[in-house]
Formats: sequence, C-alpha cells, structure tokens
Amino acid sequence: MKALDRLRAGYQKFSEAYFSGDNLTFKELVAKGQNPEVLIIGCCDSRVSPSIITQAEPGELFTIRNVANLVPPYTHQEDTYHGVSAAIEFAVRHLEVEHIVVLGHSQCGGIRALMESGILGKKDSFISTWVSIAEAAKDKVNAEFPHLSMDEKCHLCEQEALQISLNNLLSFPWVRSKVEAKKLFLHAWHFDLDSGQLTEFIPGEQSKILYHYK
Ligand SMILES: [Zn+2]
Repeated sequence: MKALDRLRAGYQKFSEAYFSGDNLTFKELVAKGQNPEVLIIGCCDSRVSPSIITQAEPGELFTIRNVANLVPPYTHQEDTYHGVSAAIEFAVRHLEVEHIVVLGHSQCGGIRALMESGILGKKDSFISTWVSIAEAAKDKVNAEFPHLSMDEKCHLCEQEALQISLNNLLSFPWVRSKVEAKKLFLHAWHFDLDSGQLTEFIPGEQSKILYHYK
C-alpha cells in the first residue's frame, strides 16, 4: 500500500495546487475544452513521463504512450482494434494539433525486446508482435554495425525506430496532407536517462542536442 499512499499524497498536493485558491487552470480547461498544440507519443516506461520531462501544464500535451513509443503503419482492417491510430486521428483531425513529437529514450525495454527477438525465440507475445513495427530499424543496425555490443545496438535502434515512426505517421493520409500543407510538423526526440540529455533529430541535418544537464 505504500506505493498507493505516495500517489494519494501526490494527488493531495496536485489538488491543492490546481483546485484551491485562485488557480483557474481547470476552470478554463473545462469551460473552453482542451486545445493542445502538441501530440506527444512516448513509451510506457515509468521513467519517461512526457509531462514530467517537459514540465507541461494540464491541457498542453495530448499524449499517447505505448511500448517503445511506436507508430504503426496506416491500415484500415475493421476486425482489429487500433488504439494508437484512433488517438492519432483524434489529435490530428479533431484537436488539430500543430506538432507531433515522437519521444524515444535510452534503456528502452521494448527496443531491447525487438533487438533480442530471434535470439530469445519466436514471436509468441503481444510485445514481440508490437515491436516488430520497427523490424527494419533492427535490420539496419545489425547490417551496419554488426561489431557493436547489444547495448550499443539497442541505443542506435532506439534512434532508428524514431524514423520508422515518423515515416509511418506519413502513411496516414490526413497526416501527410497536413504535413505537406505545412499545417502539421513532425519531430523526433530522444531522451537519455543516463546523461539527462534530450536530442532532437532533424531530417538531413546533424542531430541537435536540445539540453544537456549534468
Ligand atoms: Zn521504452
């Protein structure tokens, strides 16, 4: 119960900050509805909460979190459930966000599961099927850097997988049309848990380190 007591105490602090005194944040969010400008797609990993990393305020980030922060390709099979695609659709077509940030991170267990798949065994779980979205990233890293350690390969694969997610975003017709009209901008960020560094990957340019605190 200790873990839940910690969360209850945290909620107490949150509610005192946002629902007492003259803080109007939620009154305004309720009156006007949400209007976030950014959709962020992060990993489920407990250490990489997008709101905590970016210090976003309530209403600022429309957030999707899944194993290894992956975007699946656009498909329209009616007999399956598309939770991630539904959330992207809502953010882009209804909330009309201006930016989509795919936020990767170091020490990603999902990416490690992908890199080690084929070593550990066949696809027999939801996780291995899900992370196979980034199979091409794994193949690229293995082909170009066969001499590296598994840790180093995982780190590179985390970054290559971001590119796959950006490409998959463009397979959604209403994402592509807004990107082409310059009404929607796609971004890839990578957060390094070890150094605290946040890196932004810019297509065709050297990656830009946004912040680096030690
Ligand atoms: Zn992860």
